[in-house]
Order: sequence, then C-alpha cells, then structure tokens
Amino acid sequence: MPSMSIYPTQLALSPDQQLQITWSDGRRDALPVRLIRDQCPCATCREKRAAPPPPPTLLPVLSAAEAQPLRLLGMEPVGNYAYSLHFSDGHDTGIFTFEMLRQLAEEPNRPA
Ligand SMILES: [Zn+2]
Repeated sequence: MPSMSIYPTQLALSPDQQLQITWSDGRRDALPVRLIRDQCPCATCREKRAAPPPPPTLLPVLSAAEAQPLRLLGMEPVGNYAYSLHFSDGHDTGIFTFEMLRQLAEEPNRPA
C-alpha cells in the first residue's frame, strides 16, 4: 500500500510528550515531540541542520526555552495531507505531511 494513502484516524498526546498516532491501516505509533521538532521541514530548520555544529564550549549553555521540556501546544490540519504543529519553543511554521510523520514513525533515526 503506498504511504500516501495512509492517514491518521486518531491523535493523542501523552503526558510525557509522545504524539500517539493511530493510522488508517491500523498501525499505532508514539512519536516523541522532540524527535518531530528536530525533523522540522521548514526552511529555517533545514538550514540550521545543514550548518556546521558550533565549536564546543566548556559548559552547555541552554536558553530558558531550551531548558524546559519541549511540549506540543497545538496541531492544526493543513488541507487533508498535513498538520501544522505549534511547539512550546514558539516554533509553528513547520508543515508535517502525513507521509513524513509516518516515515518518522517507521524509521526514527532516518536522517532528514
Ligand atoms: Zn522549522
């Protein structure tokens, strides 16, 4: 079955910030919100991931937003093929297609 024809039939968010997706083919997945955020497909995040890592520092310096556990605040349908996700770090420009979420679920370590 081509993955394009698969769509979420049920969504839930667990207290530990795992997005639980039930798919039209019956499969159920739990995707950590952090994992989804790290794969954000928007231009800004793509550029960030492509950039070389910053030089090492002696102590990790986290902003207040980064120190808080990342939460998913909202999820709006975009057409009938994707969702717009609103994260607690203020980011809400990423459009996650059903296909992309499904690929993340099937291959959590797949590079972007
Ligand atoms: Zn992004």
